[in-house]
Amino acid sequence: MTLLDRYEEVVGAQEIQRLRRMAEVLADKRIIHVNSTRNGGGVAEILRWMIPLLGELGIDARWEVVTGPPDYYRVTKTFHNGLQGQEVSLKQSDFDLHSEVNRENARRLNLEAEIVIVHDPQPLYLPQFTPEGKVKQWIWRCHIDCSRPQRSVWKYVEQGLAKYQATIFSMPAFTHPLQLPMYIIPPSIDPLSDKNRPLTETERLEVLHRFAIDPERPLLVQISRFDRFKDPLGVLEAYRLLKPYHPQVQLALAGGPADDDPEGSEVLREVQERAGDDPDVKILLLPPDSHCEINALQRSAIIVLQKSLREGFGLTVTEALWKGKPVIGGACGGIALQVHDYHTGFLAHSPAGAAYRIRYLLRYADKCHRMGANGREFVLEHFLLTRHLRDYFAMILCLDQPGSCLFVPFDKE
Ligand code: UDP
Repeated sequence: MTLLDRYEEVVGAQEIQRLRRMAEVLADKRIIHVNSTRNGGGVAEILRWMIPLLGELGIDARWEVVTGPPDYYRVTKTFHNGLQGQEVSLKQSDFDLHSEVNRENARRLNLEAEIVIVHDPQPLYLPQFTPEGKVKQWIWRCHIDCSRPQRSVWKYVEQGLAKYQATIFSMPAFTHPLQLPMYIIPPSIDPLSDKNRPLTETERLEVLHRFAIDPERPLLVQISRFDRFKDPLGVLEAYRLLKPYHPQVQLALAGGPADDDPEGSEVLREVQERAGDDPDVKILLLPPDSHCEINALQRSAIIVLQKSLREGFGLTVTEALWKGKPVIGGACGGIALQVHDYHTGFLAHSPAGAAYRIRYLLRYADKCHRMGANGREFVLEHFLLTRHLRDYFAMILCLDQPGSCLFVPFDKE
């Protein structure tokens, strides 16, 4: 059975047929995706499935990764925070380092293609250092909420975009005015991956056993990198507020630092300190390939939390909804696009708000189940990889024939 046959079982024949037709038109194009890590974070998750699927559709697609010294990751993490609106301080030498690392990578990487899709700011300056004509179209795919960026960082991004033909953002609210065509393409999850495929009961219980989680008692789960914006301390506080009313409840905070995030270990240490020696709180530091573990934790949860303060799209929310779990999420970023009050979960604005909503769902099991079922339907319709790929194809066709656009570039003004 081919990969496409397996997707067809999930999304139906019509969707696969549509993809095949579009891929036929694009068959002569080589496509390269570039990001800054193969492990950790949503971008790597998406590229891991997208490249083989493109291959099966007959498209020559590759994935390249930029690398640099530790200081480069500090700078790009600062860019990330600055784009998300955090006050940051950057020196000219930081911008120079970013630019220099891009220059080295442009020399090292094989970027010969019709289309190069550059993810986020880390590889943004590659076009500046790539010989003219090697790449026909550069597209910047931004996964970050850029609605209120710090000026110095945004200015640097704008300069970096000089040689691009288009930009893509995950949702309208994340955009900032630019002089380039802008497309809105939400990300997606892969229903066949180890992270999302159905698990046997034995597989699921084995993971719980390994993490010393009691399968008989209710479990709350948050999966995310140990990052302040993911608010793991807020989750702990919500759990503390809840615990007197539901002494049976357990909490698992699971994640690992991404390769390109130097702040992770500091946040992890704070979380461990705050959790203290409560045996019902499991702080799980997961290696990057913990897909089955994350799958099992999400499937074992009664409710999944994603109490972020700032968020990109929030793929962990999509993953949880796909598994039929109601999600209590921070009212930010793409979480608000996926979590609708009383339909697929609840948006929470504080630890107390999250605790209140958890109590509600623990009390009304029928509502909890119904919201979970709604969530799965919602993801099936909007956030699976086939829809994502179809949007990419449509955008590439648009760029080739701007006069006969299949869908109109987004204009925020
Ligand atoms: N993830 C993972 N290991 C971790 C933490 C997260 O594999 O330790 C995965 C998670 O399941 C999801 C992605 O990484 O697929 C995180 O994407 P999201 O959009 O939620 O957050 P990001 O990390 O990109 O801000």
